[in-house]
Amino acid sequence: MEKFHHQKKEDIFKKLNTSEKGLSGKEAESRLKKYGLNEITKGKKTPEIILFLKQFNSALIYILFVAMTISFLFDHKVDGYVILAVVLINATIGYIQERKAGKAIDALKRLIVANARVLRNKEEIKIPAKEVVPGDIIILEEGDSVPADSYLIELKNLKTQESSLTGESFPVEKKLGILDEKTSLGDRTNSIFQGTLVVSGYAKAVVVSTAGATEMGKIANSLKETIKPKLHFNEKISQLAFQMATFAIVGSLLVFLIGFFVNKLEFIDILLFTIASLVSAIPEGLPAVLVIVLAVGARRMAKRNALIRHLPAVETLGVATVITTDKTGTITQNTMNVENIITLDKEINVSGNGWEPIGRFSENKKLINPLKDPELNKTLTISALCNKSNLVRKDNEYEITGDPTEAALLVLAKKAGLDKKRMKTCEIVDDLNFSSDLKFRATVVNMEKQKKEFYVVGAFETVIENSSNILSNGKKIKFDSKTKKEIENKSNKYAKQGMRVLGIAYKEVPSHVKSASKQLANNLVFVSLVAMKDPPRPEVKESVKKARNAGIRVIMKTGDHKETAIAIAKEVGLFQENSRVLTGEEIEDMNDEQFSEAVKEVNLFARVTPQMKSRIVRNLQEQGEIVAMTGDGVNDAPALKRADIGIAMGLIGTDVARESSELVLADDNFATIVNAVEEGRIVFQNVRQTSFYLVTTNVAEQATIITALIMNLPLPLLPIQILYLNLITDTFNGLAIAVEPGHNDVLNQPPKNKKEMILNKELMPFLLLMAGLMVVGTIPLFLHYLPQGIDKARTVAFASMSLFQFFNLLNMRSIHKSVFKIGLFSNKFVSIALGTSIALLLAIIYIPILSTIFGLVALTLKEFLLITLITSSVLVGGELYKKVRYY
Ligand code: ADP
Ligand code: MG
Repeated sequence: MEKFHHQKKEDIFKKLNTSEKGLSGKEAESRLKKYGLNEITKGKKTPEIILFLKQFNSALIYILFVAMTISFLFDHKVDGYVILAVVLINATIGYIQERKAGKAIDALKRLIVANARVLRNKEEIKIPAKEVVPGDIIILEEGDSVPADSYLIELKNLKTQESSLTGESFPVEKKLGILDEKTSLGDRTNSIFQGTLVVSGYAKAVVVSTAGATEMGKIANSLKETIKPKLHFNEKISQLAFQMATFAIVGSLLVFLIGFFVNKLEFIDILLFTIASLVSAIPEGLPAVLVIVLAVGARRMAKRNALIRHLPAVETLGVATVITTDKTGTITQNTMNVENIITLDKEINVSGNGWEPIGRFSENKKLINPLKDPELNKTLTISALCNKSNLVRKDNEYEITGDPTEAALLVLAKKAGLDKKRMKTCEIVDDLNFSSDLKFRATVVNMEKQKKEFYVVGAFETVIENSSNILSNGKKIKFDSKTKKEIENKSNKYAKQGMRVLGIAYKEVPSHVKSASKQLANNLVFVSLVAMKDPPRPEVKESVKKARNAGIRVIMKTGDHKETAIAIAKEVGLFQENSRVLTGEEIEDMNDEQFSEAVKEVNLFARVTPQMKSRIVRNLQEQGEIVAMTGDGVNDAPALKRADIGIAMGLIGTDVARESSELVLADDNFATIVNAVEEGRIVFQNVRQTSFYLVTTNVAEQATIITALIMNLPLPLLPIQILYLNLITDTFNGLAIAVEPGHNDVLNQPPKNKKEMILNKELMPFLLLMAGLMVVGTIPLFLHYLPQGIDKARTVAFASMSLFQFFNLLNMRSIHKSVFKIGLFSNKFVSIALGTSIALLLAIIYIPILSTIFGLVALTLKEFLLITLITSSVLVGGELYKKVRYY
């Protein structure tokens, strides 16, 4: 349907052949076939040619172009062509890798499926957003993203964020009604559009168009999301490229000057040396290999339930110094289960299991009928009606939609046989959603006989504070400070066991009251406390320990009560007897200075609001920490964006939170964050090892050339031989160690400084030792075979340099650990790469056409054995170095 905002609800229902009750499952299925999946085919992507050309935009490639130009200008045509070939081959490899990485990220994004709440067969269920069809009735709440263009049929305080569609950055307030046909998109307040976000309120709407027919579908291009690079990883890579480019230029200049002034060589020879020097210093494979490291890291994280939304965040995770985490759902299981109802006179036990609505009520082990007790009856009525969650049965299992805390109350009411849908005599007039700022939710209900009541469920202090009477044995009595104290003590008793304790209250309101506003929440009649159990996830304790061990501070922040927070924190090892805890109230009384002092040491924050969470993150960042932060609500979005790594929940979180974060936890589990950090650190380690490996070869080649020049020897390696070495053997081998798994050691070190360069001082001695051994091995071999002809001597030098690299590859699988400890064959890619490299080496030496082009001659087995013996010295040297330095 093209336009619908100027039509009446009834006409739209008729045209779409639907009603307020939604479609049947069968009808929806046939419509899905007719209209297709509700997906927007991605808009224009970066043209492939641009992606390809991008590969040439690097300091490293520029230098190769210089070398190529020199070669062509001075008649070294073969070299010129080979350099050209190398540049092209590398660009192709880089291009293929980058596309693959892009696809991998797309695939990960697809794992983060958006869901929609729809009415099917008159029941509210959750389905993947792509299965929504025209005619569906959808239900939206704060934090949801709108699955399809729809016409509003019911709403409450609805505001949506439509900037992705209209560019308007302020939330738009929605209203029911009919608009003029000419109303522009941004002013169609009676409709909601696919891809926009609900930032507050509640709505029911009928889906009018899906997929490509939506407004967003029509301008799909603007949806196209570019992989937003986090600057700091890219910066490190350009830093490294810059270092290597400088090295190439300085080295070549040196070669030129020595050749010209000291050795007084012929110009043509100097040129040959200079070209060789230029190409030897360039690690051509590096850029492509680094993309692979990130992509492999992202894939490994996904296997461990951590879904990365921006590729470079993989690496940022590895340098995180603080994780601030929510309690409910991340540290705990979010399987809320009401176990106790506490009134002024009684304490009731409720049995049951999970979301199954079957259980018994007992007082002092004696079964009771809760509906016969006035306080319990009221508690259960309010639980059933002041509630927006839903319980659905799916193949003998119960599932919920909406907030687990509310679902727990729903299940509780059902255990006594109360069900909103069957309570025909009560009509819900209005509902106020829970918010972490208010810390309660409320509902206005029309009871039988025109009696209107206002129900409140929320944090017990808030509810107690706003109550002036309390129910006792069916009668309202004054809720004086002594009685309040009594109730508070009871609450604390349960909170201390780690239970989530809610207060329940109500009041009668005049019949003219139409909306459940927060201003009504005073002078309430307190009814009861309900205590629900939400145990910690079993694996969290171990993860907290791991994080600590890895030098990462873990901070728990929650909107829940202090005692509950302490109990849970103790269970997972986040809180000791002498630890400090801060509450939102206490924070409000602090000045900035006191607050930053507190943030330095306090690891537990209770009864905090989303704004305080944001303030904690900001403060930590000002203190130089790299902060990973979890959040789930709409109010958390600003803090998630601000954090270095925003982490959203895949199961319970809102779409708004997910769109503001870098990482999504598929299982909402704290343990997954620590696993992701581990993978992030492995990524940095692999980036470092791979770069280190590639660069060592370049330094060794460069040094060999300069040494030969100083000793007044002929050039030991021709430019094309160097290029072959760097391209074929290095790139393969580099890719193989790029996927090296971790060796259980990354979490035993403190976090890296985020400014730490890929090649830092710590690595220099190792690098110089390896490069030194390579030079000291190659030059004498070259000298020894020189009398047998320059080709023979170069072949020997070429073979030794290759084998040196192969042995050094084994060293570089771990900078700290012996390769024999981590298992010589434990990375099968290294074994394959080595096999391939050896085959390529033999091919170029023994296949006549190739050997002629590359100026190589055949070697005997004995010569090969000698070279192998000498080159294995780098492995011995590497092992000794690690032993001396790290054990
Ligand atoms: P958290 O998710 O960190 O536990 P919240 O800010 O969501 O913190 O909740 C704060 C308090 O508000 C809870 O301790 C509970 O008492 C109450 N509460 C939480 N969710 C709801 C809800 N859906 N309805 C009513 N009260 C709630
Ligand atoms: Mg919550």
